[in-house]
Amino acid sequence: MSRLDSFIRRLTAQKILLEHVAEQVKEVPGPILELGLGNGRTYDHLREILPGRDIYVFDRDLACHPSCIPEGDFMIFGEIRDTLAFCEPRIGEKAAFIHADIGSGDPTTDLATQSWLSPLIDDRCKPGGYVLSGLALDLPGFEELEKPEGIRPGRYHLYRKK
Ligand code: SAM
Repeated sequence: MSRLDSFIRRLTAQKILLEHVAEQVKEVPGPILELGLGNGRTYDHLREILPGRDIYVFDRDLACHPSCIPEGDFMIFGEIRDTLAFCEPRIGEKAAFIHADIGSGDPTTDLATQSWLSPLIDDRCKPGGYVLSGLALDLPGFEELEKPEGIRPGRYHLYRKK
């Protein structure tokens, strides 16, 4: 598969899955955490499909399209390993939905990320809350959910906290 095909498939899977979770999470009150602003594409889509919901965005950099810069308190700068661990006073309530798009493509870095990210996500997600992640996570208190049709196995991981 060409890199172009792979890129298109990744973005298509993100859109299908974000819309799938948005439907479910309408029943779960609470903020959304977007881990990895990047270009701002998935953040922009989330705010469009979940209007009125607080979305806190985490990244070490600001490199997004100018129209996708989160407002004031909703942009949390720094290393997610630090900011996710200490964001409770700022955000307060635990998250109804956490979307993590911080895979590097390097297997060693991704294994390290999975190891520090999993317990932080567990801590920041409320019971009944959803987690969608490009990296597989170790979340014993969660069930892994079926994904909608058309998503290649292993491309994305969808969990719900019990
Ligand atoms: N979902 C975004 C979009 O649709 O445009 C793309 C996110 S991009 C693949 C990953 C982003 O996560 C990058 O902007 C990078 O700076 C950020 N990132 C990755 N690991 C991070 C970490 N450990 N701490 C803070 N930011 C991180």
